Amino acid sequence: MCMVWQPDESTLDLIRHLALQNSYQYDGKGQAGSVISRIMGSRADLRQHGKVIAPLVAKEVSKANSMAESSGLESIRDILENEAPELLEKRVQTRREGLPELPNLNGRKPVLRFAPNPNGPLSFGHSRGLVINGQYAKEHDGELILRFDDTDTTVKPPMLEAYDSIPSQQEWLCGFAAHRVVVASERMQHYHDYALKMIEGEFGYVCTCSADDFREFRVSKTECPCRNNSLETNIQNWEKMNHSEGYKPGDAVLRVKTDMTLKNPALRDWPAARIQTNPHPRVGNKWRVWPLLDFQSAIEDHLQGVTHIIRGKDLMDSTRKQTLLYEHFGWNYPETIYWGRVKVHEFGAFSTSQMKKDIAQGVYDGWDDPRLPTLSALSRRGIKPESLRAFWIELGLTQKDISVPLSTLYSHNTKVIDVNAPRLAFVRDAYPIKLVGEFPKTGQISSHSDTEMPPRKFSIDEGVWIEQTDSGKPIRLKDLCDIDELGNVQSIDRSDKRSVVHWVAGGSPSKLTIANGQDIEIFEGILEDNNYPTGTIVQLERIGYAIIEKDGLLMVHD
Ligand SMILES: [Zn+2]
Repeated sequence: MCMVWQPDESTLDLIRHLALQNSYQYDGKGQAGSVISRIMGSRADLRQHGKVIAPLVAKEVSKANSMAESSGLESIRDILENEAPELLEKRVQTRREGLPELPNLNGRKPVLRFAPNPNGPLSFGHSRGLVINGQYAKEHDGELILRFDDTDTTVKPPMLEAYDSIPSQQEWLCGFAAHRVVVASERMQHYHDYALKMIEGEFGYVCTCSADDFREFRVSKTECPCRNNSLETNIQNWEKMNHSEGYKPGDAVLRVKTDMTLKNPALRDWPAARIQTNPHPRVGNKWRVWPLLDFQSAIEDHLQGVTHIIRGKDLMDSTRKQTLLYEHFGWNYPETIYWGRVKVHEFGAFSTSQMKKDIAQGVYDGWDDPRLPTLSALSRRGIKPESLRAFWIELGLTQKDISVPLSTLYSHNTKVIDVNAPRLAFVRDAYPIKLVGEFPKTGQISSHSDTEMPPRKFSIDEGVWIEQTDSGKPIRLKDLCDIDELGNVQSIDRSDKRSVVHWVAGGSPSKLTIANGQDIEIFEGILEDNNYPTGTIVQLERIGYAIIEKDGLLMVHD
């Protein structure tokens, strides 16, 4: 007979004290995950007993949290002061920055996945999943899997270019390449194997009811006639699904046997695989029966050893469905963390299929059109991966739905780009003004106030360009002189409070493109002479940051 290991008195005290401390530090919102990490970190001998320790910790943390709620943090403080004063030394006053601990890591290296449908290139919305999963993988020396969930050839068929663009965008955004790339359409044999195991294990069956009929069964909590078919009939029907002369699309699906009386109708005998006859852009017509997303994703998460799934709270039903499937197979379901929706006003509602249509019709120039929320457009517009990472990590993993202005992302971006952005002048609707009087004809102006960038040199022949709207009134030419509306020099030093305007001596014609929501504005003007290569982000005096493109400037943000 083998005895189950039990912790001794002092271990139990340690667990209780660390649970109290954690709850105290985080305002009554202690987290079992972080307590477990601390215990395992300081007591290597306990690591092999994670299964016993974890539930004890969870119990103590929830006790501590409810004590904080019912009798206040002070009561926790009192206990610790008596029993373990050394744990009271520092109390974190502010909410911790960044991401919460991964729950139930128990000393493992996490395996996380980001699983887009390659029916288009990645968008701003995808960047959240990449950033958060990538960050956890990086922080814990774990692994990030990039998985193409590409088994829908009917409603959201895959786009071939996306198989190339997504990995490079993933690397751009995360700063490292995914540890594994998995393409579902190349792993169909596995899904078929498990489908068959499901039938053989009699927790899966082929259902030939019409969609309408099954809906009735689901609503009335009744089992459909196919559910009680013999194993033999089921296997025959499965073969008929796979045979080109057999069932037609829509005539049969494979279902997971759950329970038709479950409270949540979505979970009642949910569909796992169906027939699709449209060719897949990568594997053609090699397969006839294709897994649905919940089934494919569940099998693949198991095969890849995924430890943590981070998904929208709108996908809670997926977790529930997949958990039922895992129970049939005798597998442990990964830890699941949910987040709420984040809405960025300016990005409105773009769908991949709508963007695809609009690009084909010429509404947009391409996937990197600056009006689109794709990652290629954001990158073209000078939004840096570091900024997107800071943005998502700061928002964290709240389950609340939140709405954020784009300016939040821009302020992160300013922090990243400003230090390397030389100042440059661009005058819109350039207006020539001849200068009369004494003024410095040559000189230099700082390129950046906080860095050692070489200064800009200027040389004035007889006049400068200013913006049309700055003409017709006394102005100060920045860092040069005060002039009247006719260009007569009045003072070298600043003499009054007239407005300070930027100007260009020499320069060459250029244009500035500004994407403002769905509008594009183009300003013609004169750009100060410079040798910056394409792709350089500059700060245009009085305008904002812009990126130098082949045929002009593209506004980044102000
Ligand atoms: Zn049926």
